[in-house]
Amino acid sequence: MKILVINAGSSSLKYQLVEMANESVIAKGLCERIGLDGKIVHQVGEKKIKYDVPFPTHQQAFEELVKALTTGDDAVLSDMGEISAVGHRVVQGSDRFSDSALITEEMLKILESFNDLAPLHNPANIMAIRACMKVFDAGVPQVAVFDTAFHSSIPEKAFIYPIPYEMYEKHRIRRYGFHGTSHRYVSARVAELMGKPETELKIITCHLGNGSSVAAIDGGKSVDTTMGLTPLEGLGMGTRCGSIDPSIVTFLMDKEGLDTKGISDLMNKKSGYLGISGLTNDLRDLQEAADGGHKRAALALDILGYQLLKYIGSYAAAMGGVDVVVFTGGIGENSSGTRSKACAGLGFIGLTIDEEINKGVFSREVDITTPESKVKVWVVPTNEELVIARDTKEVAKLK
Ligand code: ADP
Repeated sequence: MKILVINAGSSSLKYQLVEMANESVIAKGLCERIGLDGKIVHQVGEKKIKYDVPFPTHQQAFEELVKALTTGDDAVLSDMGEISAVGHRVVQGSDRFSDSALITEEMLKILESFNDLAPLHNPANIMAIRACMKVFDAGVPQVAVFDTAFHSSIPEKAFIYPIPYEMYEKHRIRRYGFHGTSHRYVSARVAELMGKPETELKIITCHLGNGSSVAAIDGGKSVDTTMGLTPLEGLGMGTRCGSIDPSIVTFLMDKEGLDTKGISDLMNKKSGYLGISGLTNDLRDLQEAADGGHKRAALALDILGYQLLKYIGSYAAAMGGVDVVVFTGGIGENSSGTRSKACAGLGFIGLTIDEEINKGVFSREVDITTPESKVKVWVVPTNEELVIARDTKEVAKLK
């Protein structure tokens, strides 16, 4: 059985075709510049094939990706009828969807009502789903897997903001949390790797990529996370500011003459590592600059390490202890310096990493602590597509 996994943005669309018999990736790719000119990088095994094809709309991008899967020398399917179901990543499910669910017209209408909550992501997700439904036969189940769903177990005291309660009732202002699919995958996986039931573990997962979040997972359930109403809260990220004094918003609007779009751009696109360093949002480049003596690049790395340290410490307190910390995402899986900074001050909770092991770990599953360390630290590469494919199979009741 083959399942197609889709992760769509406003101008790009990532896809992965998964063979569920052995959970292997048959082909994957990225359609970029939708609405501009159009470019697909399609990958089968190690072979990458590039096509320049115009797709002014998401629907045409879907048609082209189906073509890439079914035609030419590198076809992996004889017919698109071989695809049993399609799973879609949906960023904002609000508190309405606490589990993955079959997509219906009624669901899409409900999702549209959340557009204000996730203006950068939700409209694009919905548009891509509608386009996909036009390209695929109506009999092919389409399933939504929400970034927010895993965090629906967060208790009220952690999701209500200390602002007038009516703002929650009226506008649904609360912490939702994101990257749920990744936090869910790596927390379940680390329990497996440690040979312990997840129900008996207190886990802190650090998903560090272009967007970053930390989650506290007690007994398999998310109990707190750093991202909030939107993916802007929490850690400073590539270009996002993360948590700052809310007064800075109105102060800068006044002093810099910014309107809501201006301040939103400053916080979402010009802050984080880019804003601090004045150089780059890419952690690899930041590290290189810091190694070469660039002070503000080094400061950006120090801030990230310090924020991580504080979140790990506070989530350990929130759960009354911690058994294991997990690092994942492009930075978490590959940046030994970030892991080292985040863990350096945690000897007092019984956590010590082995720096020699840590230095050599890039995107593989490894325990990087010393044998004496009471709290373990694992690097676990994330696999959000696999979770989406598994959920799709289950929700669509495929045998
Ligand atoms: P996204 O959130 O877009 O999925 P990723 O999870 O791929 O992003 O993470 C991208 C980040 O990971 C970038 O800041 C990149 O510099 C960083 N990264 C990737 N490889 C390395 C590496 N070897 N060392 C340090 N950072 C890395």
